Amino acid sequence: MNKLSRSEIELEVSKYTFLEKKQREGLPDLQWATNGMRVNTRFAPNPSGFLHIGHAKVAILCDEYAKKYSGKFYVRLEDTDPKTKKPILKAYDSIVEDVKWLGCNIAEVIRQSDRMELYYSYAKKLIEAGMAYVCTCDKETMHSNRLSGTACACRSLSVRENVERWGRMMKDYKEGEAVLRLKTDMSHSNVSVRDWVMFRIIDEEHPLTKDRYRVWPLYNFAAAIDDHELSINLVIRGKEHEINQMKQAYVFKYFSWSKPHILEVGVLKVRGEMAHKSDIRKAIAEGRLTGWDDPRAPTIMGFRNRGVKPEAIRKYVIDSGIGKNDSYLDIQKLSAIGRSLEHHSREEAEQ
Ligand SMILES: [Zn+2]
Repeated sequence: MNKLSRSEIELEVSKYTFLEKKQREGLPDLQWATNGMRVNTRFAPNPSGFLHIGHAKVAILCDEYAKKYSGKFYVRLEDTDPKTKKPILKAYDSIVEDVKWLGCNIAEVIRQSDRMELYYSYAKKLIEAGMAYVCTCDKETMHSNRLSGTACACRSLSVRENVERWGRMMKDYKEGEAVLRLKTDMSHSNVSVRDWVMFRIIDEEHPLTKDRYRVWPLYNFAAAIDDHELSINLVIRGKEHEINQMKQAYVFKYFSWSKPHILEVGVLKVRGEMAHKSDIRKAIAEGRLTGWDDPRAPTIMGFRNRGVKPEAIRKYVIDSGIGKNDSYLDIQKLSAIGRSLEHHSREEAEQ
């Protein structure tokens, strides 16, 4: 792109400026947010990795809506799986730094591993209300039960028995021997929604809480509790979370909480051999990239080191809108936006 002559650049810029005028300024209004209602949003990555351009889209949209409706924008680090999504200590800071660099106005940074007692207290309420039970069935039995829609014997145990079993999950049961399930509907059309797991035992050291906790909430439970606790009323997410939403709806129903509004947006992806986090990890391991911040990596750090300006990323995201279709990052468009912004700021400086 640097090889374009000055006139070619000016032509590009003028084309872009023309397009820009035709586009709507900012994001569309939220029909439900009326009468000065504040809109609170959250960006909730897992600190088991670093942020890529797809994350930037969600973070910017959340931040923009919170700003537009004078609400709060939270960064919530979802770190309650110390085994398969083991948190990386460096990622906690790096994520917050990236989000700030993108120009987001963070009201508070929430770490879910700090909120374990809160999740336990809500779990206990559900057990006491007879809406959750500790299941000690083996995987195969439970799998076939769920497929056939059959309730296991654990489901009809008394509240007292379940409270006692919940206590045993904290110390006696071994990993894999017991889980806490939410009573949903054993005949739900989606098998995975049937009595989904709220908590499981993981005997693995957590980088922050060390060995203090061994009973960890799964994503859907922790997310539902936090969305309520933080008064989140707008959740921006990709289509792949549709089933999670169905699962979480039960938590909201049982506590009689109002559910947040959902804005389903297409995922912003990159083309090529670095399309996935696993590709980047592999490239780093093989020495083809120097790290997550290598300018060739499609991470936020990579874009920063490539010289891309956060204002350009923000404008790109806003101009792309909130459609449901997935899209690929158009590097030429991003560069054109960057040049156009520089052009404007130069003009302003000269005036
Ligand atoms: Zn069972």
